[in-house]
Amino acid sequence: MTYYVNEDRPTNSTRVHRADCYYYVHRVSKIPKDGRWHGPFETLETALEGARQTGRKHVSRCKICLGQEAANEGV
Ligand SMILES: [Zn+2]
Repeated sequence: MTYYVNEDRPTNSTRVHRADCYYYVHRVSKIPKDGRWHGPFETLETALEGARQTGRKHVSRCKICLGQEAANEGV
């Protein structure tokens, strides 16, 4: 599986998605002008690291495509 990171400037946050997530496939962003996509990342770990490296304050995982994996890791 490949992962992508969506960077959202207005909320100073990033969110990690799987490549097959609805949000990535359709490039959904609250404010497209202010959103950027980073990736691809080969693993969830590197995607999270890439998200941190953007310097945004919040790093989260999409609950739609990564909800199950997040639960497995106890996050
Ligand atoms: Zn997602």
